Amino acid sequence: MTPSELAEARDALVTAAQRFARTEIAPHASAWDAAGEFPRALYKRAAELGFLGLGYPEAYGGTPAPRALRVALSRTLARHAAAGGTLSSLMSHGIGLPPVIALGSEALKREVVPEVLAGERISALAITEPGGGSDVAALKTHARREGDDYVVNGEKIFITSGMRADWITLAVRTDPASKGAGGISLLLVPGDSRGLSRTRLDKMGWLASDTAHLRFDEVRVPARYLLGEEHKGFRAIMGNFNSERYGIASSALGYAEACYDEALAWAQQRQAFGSALVEHQVIRHKLVDMQQRIQATGAWLDHVVAQADAGINDAAWVASVCMLKNQATQTFQFCADAGVQILGGMGFMRGTVVERLYREVKVLTIGGGTEEIMKELAARQLGVV
Ligand SMILES: Cc1cc2nc3c(=O)[nH]c(=O)nc-3n(C[C@H](O)[C@H](O)[C@H](O)COP(=O)(O)OP(=O)(O)OC[C@H]3O[C@@H](n4cnc5c(N)ncnc54)[C@H](O)[C@@H]3O)c2cc1C
Repeated sequence: MTPSELAEARDALVTAAQRFARTEIAPHASAWDAAGEFPRALYKRAAELGFLGLGYPEAYGGTPAPRALRVALSRTLARHAAAGGTLSSLMSHGIGLPPVIALGSEALKREVVPEVLAGERISALAITEPGGGSDVAALKTHARREGDDYVVNGEKIFITSGMRADWITLAVRTDPASKGAGGISLLLVPGDSRGLSRTRLDKMGWLASDTAHLRFDEVRVPARYLLGEEHKGFRAIMGNFNSERYGIASSALGYAEACYDEALAWAQQRQAFGSALVEHQVIRHKLVDMQQRIQATGAWLDHVVAQADAGINDAAWVASVCMLKNQATQTFQFCADAGVQILGGMGFMRGTVVERLYREVKVLTIGGGTEEIMKELAARQLGVV
């Protein structure tokens, strides 16, 4: 794609995504939060509009696209839907499917991917365990080989789309003698497997998302659902984190923009001491501080994604992705806090964008790798230690 073709495609995508987010998600966001879920039909609708399949191979029902377009999509949906719970579950295939596409057999890909991209099946990724999420190499859920099956026992926690997922991309220990990163594999588990039980988790935010605790009790999974080589899953898990992290950065940026949009509109019409809030220097400076962070983060995001589209994947790039995730989530934290402050009491009321996003921002500094772990990884990739 030439730069002008990319710009044209981005404009068309942003317009379509904005319309979808504004008319088909934003008006329902509070009601879906109150209900604790959104209609399953939304997956099909997002698929019809081409959003679920963007960036996936045509052979499995996707539309190949550069990463620049995928992040433009997540940023736009975040900005105009401003509903993290709905979007995190709607797009959970973004972390569940890449290992299937990268490592699954041709037959498996044909069985699984088209239905997910059509919005007919839901995909989730399950790595975190009750014993810990940051130290992935210490995971305990295990799968032993018995004939043509693996038999899975263990637990996963905080799994996005965990209640409704039809396919669970699961990190398991297949070599019982191993303790660290060696001996970990990825297995695709059908959601209707016997011995799999799910418990819904109550949360601070992302209320419309079906976050779950999963228990595996002698769950038999056909061995053909192994993704890639046995005992070699750790590397794939780590590689998957990079795209998840710049994806989270693009969403965080969109949510920061949503806070800015609402705060600006409010400050322009709200009167205090005889003039609009924006006429008070402290308020307009706060808005500029928000924009300063948004624009800096946006430029960094574009740079990191352009590097990825150019095939760059070295240590400096991985460090940049980790730091970008922190930069974007800190930008969102700043904008959510400033947004609530500018709206005053109204910013504390259910129904405003900033109130919802203020409750949702924290999870982005935890999920996909915590702020502390991002710094640890960046330090190592930069050669600091
Ligand atoms: C709403 C939600 C949705 C999620 N969705 C998914 C999902 O779909 N799939 C999935 O697999 N997981 C998911 N997660 C889990 C998420 O990825 C983990 O919560 C995260 O990786 C942190 O793991 P933990 O909660 O076990 O914290 P821990 O690993 O126990 O860490 C606790 C604290 O200690 C800090 N810490 C840990 N190690 C170090 C260190 N070496 N140096 C300094 N500080 C350290 C951490 O930064 C953190 O602040 C989700 C979480 C939430 C809240």
